[in-house]
Amino acid sequence: LTLSRAAPASFNQDDVLLVNTFAIQASIALENARLYDDLNRFNQMMERMVEQRVEELNNAYRTLEKLDKNKSDFIQVAAHELRTPLTVIKGYMGMIKSVPAMQKEPSMIQAMEGVIQGTNRLHQVVNSMLDVARLDNQVLTPHLEAVTLGPVLRLIRKDYAEELQARQINLELDPDINSAPPLLADSELLKKALDNIIVNAIKFTPDGGSIFVNAGPVNVDGRGEYCEIRVRDTGIGIDSENHTIIFEKLYQLGKVEFHSSGRTKFKGGGPGLGLAIAAGIVKSHKGKIWVESAGYDEKNLPGSTFIIQIPLAK
Ligand code: ADP
Repeated sequence: LTLSRAAPASFNQDDVLLVNTFAIQASIALENARLYDDLNRFNQMMERMVEQRVEELNNAYRTLEKLDKNKSDFIQVAAHELRTPLTVIKGYMGMIKSVPAMQKEPSMIQAMEGVIQGTNRLHQVVNSMLDVARLDNQVLTPHLEAVTLGPVLRLIRKDYAEELQARQINLELDPDINSAPPLLADSELLKKALDNIIVNAIKFTPDGGSIFVNAGPVNVDGRGEYCEIRVRDTGIGIDSENHTIIFEKLYQLGKVEFHSSGRTKFKGGGPGLGLAIAAGIVKSHKGKIWVESAGYDEKNLPGSTFIIQIPLAK
């Protein structure tokens, strides 16, 4: 900042002070303008970076969606291809079993029972594969009506009476379930979802353990009135980092090589479809499903609680 003058001694002390003050303010204004310019440039750079990252994320999402679709397509094709020969095997086994000569041979009967049991299990797996594919393709639409929970749960308990007895597991239904208000659900699909949750509770609870089911109405913030069903077991539990991923199809925490043909054997491996089916069904009912567990511990058995919320019938 320069001051010039025509006549000597034109500036007094006050002028110098004024000019000084002006100079200080001007330098602050210049500095602010420079900072503002820097900030602007930084913002533009950040915007470009965010746009780039969003584009990358969109690409990754599209790739994952494609991979997930491939997985669904594969499951669907494999299930259809397996179903036809399975039906043929089951039909012929039924015929062979009824041949009188076969019935005289105990070892043959035992062998045939084994084959029939194996094909029945395979049929269950194939049906689960078809369910997952249908849920993924949104072709499994629920026929909603007012459903009372008690009979559905009692039916499931009856279906597994033999397995529960063999494993000495107590499946207790809370008496309050009988007074729970009716849900807006497809009874077949609801049974399937609860069946998958309960079968897992049996599978991941050691012999002599217990499973407790209770239900009641809850008011979920902003989402209205729901029935909350809680299935609690005294099993091996689930680590918190796996609480979300277990609901993905084909995901299982156990070792893949420990597969068994039984559905309720302790820690028996399955195809990793049960929870995906349960989650798909709950989603198609506009409900919510999640798990609570203190962690995985085969010694102290912290157990797991699966919670399902389904809208109430009006
Ligand atoms: P799977 O066919 O393996 O049972 P699911 O989709 O039903 O497939 O379950 C996925 C995984 O979640 C299981 O392999 C198991 O590790 C874990 N899991 C599910 N339910 C329970 C439970 N009640 N207790 C402990 N672990 C469980």
